[in-house]
Amino acid sequence: MTAAITSWLDSLCPAGVRSDLAALRRDLHQHPELAFRESRSAALLERALQACGATQVRRVAGTGVVARIRGRMPGAPVVAVRGDIDALPIQEATGLPFASVNDGVMHACGHDVHAAWAVGAARLLAEHPATGDVLVVLQPAEEIGEGAAAVLASGALDDAQAIFGGHVDRRFVVGQVVAQTGSLAAAADTFEIVLDGHGAHGARPHESLDPVVCAAEIIMALQTIVARRVNPAIPAVVTVATMHAGSAQNVIPERASLGGTLRAVDTTTRLLLGTSVRQLAEGIAAAHGLTATVTMSLGPPPIVNPERPVAWAREAVTSLLGDAALVPLGITNMAGEDFAYYMERLPGCFMRIGARLPDEPVIAAHTPQFHAAEESLFVGAAVLAETARVASAALARGDSAA
Ligand SMILES: [Zn+2]
Ligand SMILES: [Zn+2]
Repeated sequence: MTAAITSWLDSLCPAGVRSDLAALRRDLHQHPELAFRESRSAALLERALQACGATQVRRVAGTGVVARIRGRMPGAPVVAVRGDIDALPIQEATGLPFASVNDGVMHACGHDVHAAWAVGAARLLAEHPATGDVLVVLQPAEEIGEGAAAVLASGALDDAQAIFGGHVDRRFVVGQVVAQTGSLAAAADTFEIVLDGHGAHGARPHESLDPVVCAAEIIMALQTIVARRVNPAIPAVVTVATMHAGSAQNVIPERASLGGTLRAVDTTTRLLLGTSVRQLAEGIAAAHGLTATVTMSLGPPPIVNPERPVAWAREAVTSLLGDAALVPLGITNMAGEDFAYYMERLPGCFMRIGARLPDEPVIAAHTPQFHAAEESLFVGAAVLAETARVASAALARGDSAA
């Protein structure tokens, strides 16, 4: 590492904090755990938070951990920073010296880094406190979209007035941060369509009400939702990802089922997608004399970053890293992120934080090769801590987050 990079990192995070965070992240990465099973990770994070001087360190939502870092001014408004901690059912192929030892489980979304960010922010805030208290939330089960709601239900964030979090992103290099208003993540709902018809011998289709042909027609018709019902200027996705029917080549089955995901960046489009899937499936099934049972499961709503919390995050990024660090997202992100549940209740800002070194390739999250550059640990920790300080000071001055 060059002297210039070392001194840049020193300005973000002291060397002692950096080595502890790197060790914590490597330990988490090597021992990944799936949603709501993060017991080892939670114990490790709990100890790390206690060691950095946090108070009220406690378990929430089963395998989540929440802690409080005291501010300088008792009674001042409270803000929260959040890291998620769960892994994915993927076999790791990064070749890292600290690759997963848990077969078929991997930190392929960078939540090992997000957890270390939150602990790092806690430590930096313990050393240089914000105006008010900061709640540090280590949330389980982001990947199944249930952890944030469980943390909220626990009441752990009841006295928070704003919340901040981020995601590693290898499209951006270490030191670049996306903190912008508007759409940052999509609503991610899922659907299942069960078609009930009438089975028959494969040679006697006239005696059947064939769910396979009906399923095929529905799959094609669902492609017209984005093409013909959604305003072309608004991003949306309808994906049919599963289809199950039949057990033999010469038997027309009784039943077929389809499953998929719907992505939208605003509530109106979200509703339109759901209603259209139901209408097309039920209508086409009825036209062929079959019945369609459509089940919608609502996932996280979209994340739409509001102006004021974004301004606080941008001020923090600029003061730590300079104006050039702030980069535009450049695309519409159609992935879901359960941080959205917090933002239904609290104003906040969700950031994307650069996670590759300049000479490294872009690697997509949720693939066996994904990992974040270690240096991104220190940027994320410092950005979250400083954003909490800026937000806390602004709220204490009487600025509104809304
Ligand atoms: Zn993920
Ligand atoms: Zn993620």
